[in-house]
Amino acid sequence: MITARRLVPGLMTGLLGLALLAPGQARAGRGPGPALVALPPGAVAAPAVVAGANLGGTVRPQDAPPEAVADAGVEPAAPAGSEAADAPDRETAPPPVQIMDHFSIVNPEQVYTYELLTSDLQRMAAQYPDLARVRTLGQTAYGREIWALGLGTGPGTVLLVGAHHGSEWLTANLMAAMADRYALAATVGETLGGFNVNELLRSATLWFVPMLNPDGVTLSQVGLSAFPAESHARFLAWNGGRDDFRGWKANGEGIDLNRQYPAEWAYIAASPAGPSFSHYKGAEPLVASESRALFDFTLALDPEMVVAYHSAGQVIFWHFHTWPENVERDHRIAERLSGLTGYDLLPPEENPSGGGYKDWFVQTVGRPGFTLEIGRYTDGGPLPLSAFAEEWQRNRAVGLALAEEAVRLDQERGAR
Ligand SMILES: [Zn+2]
Repeated sequence: MITARRLVPGLMTGLLGLALLAPGQARAGRGPGPALVALPPGAVAAPAVVAGANLGGTVRPQDAPPEAVADAGVEPAAPAGSEAADAPDRETAPPPVQIMDHFSIVNPEQVYTYELLTSDLQRMAAQYPDLARVRTLGQTAYGREIWALGLGTGPGTVLLVGAHHGSEWLTANLMAAMADRYALAATVGETLGGFNVNELLRSATLWFVPMLNPDGVTLSQVGLSAFPAESHARFLAWNGGRDDFRGWKANGEGIDLNRQYPAEWAYIAASPAGPSFSHYKGAEPLVASESRALFDFTLALDPEMVVAYHSAGQVIFWHFHTWPENVERDHRIAERLSGLTGYDLLPPEENPSGGGYKDWFVQTVGRPGFTLEIGRYTDGGPLPLSAFAEEWQRNRAVGLALAEEAVRLDQERGAR
């Protein structure tokens, strides 16, 4: 097996070698390797399926699907049967075109746990010392670290956040994959999505918080066994008595982290009276250590823009009591994101439910903030691993496009 440390020195030959792999050889276990993705001919941001890939999840999903859970205020409720209606018709689909992608450390096509993330981020910082650095923003109630990885050395800063909600952990796969892919591209001088990544990461810095809610993610992926016995009765009660935790969205204290930010918090509708697997806004804003940590880090970092990745729906939220002078700017960037991802832009709502991270950033900081909802609607449980390849193709250039926007915004600010 090629070790990550050996990959970069021999990288160009390594990449050439990887290109010779047949689909069936790809992704045999964890480690460096290509993801083979099939796209219909001519597709840019179109549905894709993994061809011959070993999706090798190591955590067995629990048995019954959880009840459908709408992510009100952030994600619209799933219309019944929408998943079936959206499923690609494999019988009539055109023959796939092979597209290859490379990762140096992260294997994003597996159930991506807190432990994998912890290990991968340390490895990335060790492998790309000139580009990458890791820090913790704080700890959760169960002692897990809230990791952040900075990539790049330039002043134009973007902050990207995954997994506010436990069941939406595929967004952590996406964030870790993005960081790895960009670091690799910058190191070998590769162009990605038309961007010169090395040049871009000298004028911009991307900060990733791939898994803001590691307790909630772990509960969704593993279940009660990952938590001390004395917590089990509490978790069961907050989960409505169900022992299937796949649909768990809250943190380990039963607080919905994306209903915690000071953005019209007092007016958040439909919050349960107390801790719950979903939607409980907490006794006050920012009492959850995870939301507080991200809030403090955002203010300290002072990024030009923020992106929160959620699931599902393949839509983009960009507006929240947006300052009139910012509407055109924010809408233009949102349109660019929509063009890249193929996701629909949602129109501004008349009475948006608040408390969300991007809501607070847009309304209070007055800079662009976006919520991107990856994947097609599910029954309320996590997206299947099979959704990753398509979402990766849709989103792989998002961080780079936003880095470019951040450079521009930073320069405009400096010129004023
Ligand atoms: Zn969410």
